[in-house]
Amino acid sequence: MRNNLMTNVLIIGSGVGGLSAGIILAKLGFQVTVVEKNRLPGGLMRSYTRGGTECDVGVHYLGALGHGEILQKLFNYLGVASKIPVERMGKDGVIDKYIFDNFTFDLPEGLDAYQENLRNTFPDEHRQIAEIMKRLRHSAEKMRSLDFLFPAQNDFSMLEQSEPLGKILTQLQCSPGLRAVIGVPCCWMGVSLEECPCFYHNMILATYLFSSWRLACSGSKMADVFAERLKSLGGKIIQAEEVEKILVNARVAEGIQLKSGQMLKARIVIGAVHPKIVLNMLPKGAVKPSYRKRISQLEDTPGIFSVHAELDASSHKAIPHNIFKVNTDKSGNILDMKFYQLKKSEKGGKNTFSILTSGKPELWRPWENTMTGWRGSDYVEEKEKRAWTLIHEAEEIFGPLCDAKLVDAYTPLTIRDWVNSPGGSAYGVLRSSKQLLSTALLNRTSVRGLFLAGQSAMAPGILGTILGSLSTVKLIVRNLKLET
Ligand SMILES: Cc1cc2nc3c(=O)[nH]c(=O)nc-3n(C[C@H](O)[C@H](O)[C@H](O)COP(=O)(O)OP(=O)(O)OC[C@H]3O[C@@H](n4cnc5c(N)ncnc54)[C@H](O)[C@@H]3O)c2cc1C
Repeated sequence: MRNNLMTNVLIIGSGVGGLSAGIILAKLGFQVTVVEKNRLPGGLMRSYTRGGTECDVGVHYLGALGHGEILQKLFNYLGVASKIPVERMGKDGVIDKYIFDNFTFDLPEGLDAYQENLRNTFPDEHRQIAEIMKRLRHSAEKMRSLDFLFPAQNDFSMLEQSEPLGKILTQLQCSPGLRAVIGVPCCWMGVSLEECPCFYHNMILATYLFSSWRLACSGSKMADVFAERLKSLGGKIIQAEEVEKILVNARVAEGIQLKSGQMLKARIVIGAVHPKIVLNMLPKGAVKPSYRKRISQLEDTPGIFSVHAELDASSHKAIPHNIFKVNTDKSGNILDMKFYQLKKSEKGGKNTFSILTSGKPELWRPWENTMTGWRGSDYVEEKEKRAWTLIHEAEEIFGPLCDAKLVDAYTPLTIRDWVNSPGGSAYGVLRSSKQLLSTALLNRTSVRGLFLAGQSAMAPGILGTILGSLSTVKLIVRNLKLET
């Protein structure tokens, strides 16, 4: 640890990836500086306020925050657990309600309850369900500890069960209904069932089945807790400064250059932003052409369109679970999905109604070359038109929403400009079976001293991103040991 005190680390980006990597490194004694282009830290974790209503962006619910569960252990280790108030979902027996055209499915808390609901909904498919549960329980076992991050032999244990889940369900001859139910968690993470590695689906689903939670504070509060924790450990955050270049000499990272021209030197640089953004910051020739090609050709997860509206709390009570409206084809493959949350607002007598759905990039193409705040009134009109269409469609589930007041809507272009995510991708690189090899070990680069963190490094979501940070720090510490 004494050696670490001599080591400066610069982290590009203050999302949960950059801040959690910074906290872990600061705990280990490194001198950490995080550089953030936005005025405030937090990236997607941070919420924003419109007309007094808090609008969530990248934290709608979290899994595995129960006592001794994986995210709770990580929050404890980071020193943020007690400062982020959360409330447990599923008190009414449901975490997520999936609404399909001809049936509904309630996702409950607990693996046994999930198996039982599957068996009750699909009484003729007990054999298939047993097979699905065998794999799910295996992944759940892994997610109960952090052992999979520190395998004794190699780093490939995550690649077990790498076959696409869609293929497995086809082999098991699952009905379209069962296929549709199983497909929802992958779709929520931007991967189709056809392309979703089995372990990826299972690890995500398992953590939400352990226990599911909503923030009982704003996303901004959560972001501030992470930022303050880093500062309390001696870390620094430079805000409202965009990193333009990564300084590299003879394939060794030496620091960064800000847009303002200022240069900062460090032995270790971490790009906690999308890998393509890191690539663009590197001088020509800094990495091998094969690495440049691999990163620049990575397919990303799609963007999201989101609506926040205000409803009268007296006529629209808060709902303690999430609702997914899912459209599928005849085979049970998901074509389109809408996610709804109706929760208490900070404004008295009001509740906040949020809708998330496909970003439909073709709708926003005319404004592709514009920046947030400068897109013009036609963009605002188009956004509001789409928002109202979605609110009216939701009436099928929630009843008349004539009192709805549109608070805000954002498009993939908003996300693109807010956090520098290519094309407004919501969850970074696509973790598909096809891209399994090209997305493996993404936290290492061919530049000595340059590492990646953030949601693309290992897996997206708050949990996946923090796991990625742990893995990146492990790599840094190992490399430094090898150098001494
Ligand atoms: C709509 C939506 C809903 C989601 N819902 C959930 C959910 O319910 N639960 C869950 O667990 N996960 C959810 N996620 C995913 C989760 O929010 C992300 O996986 C996670 O926040 C990503 O963190 P990150 O640090 O990798 O990236 P980011 O949060 O994008 O952080 C990157 C940071 O880098 C900064 N930056 C970029 N370029 C530069 C530069 N050149 N110089 C300096 N700074 C720079 C950005 O401004 C940003 O602050 C959701 C995501 C989206 C988009």
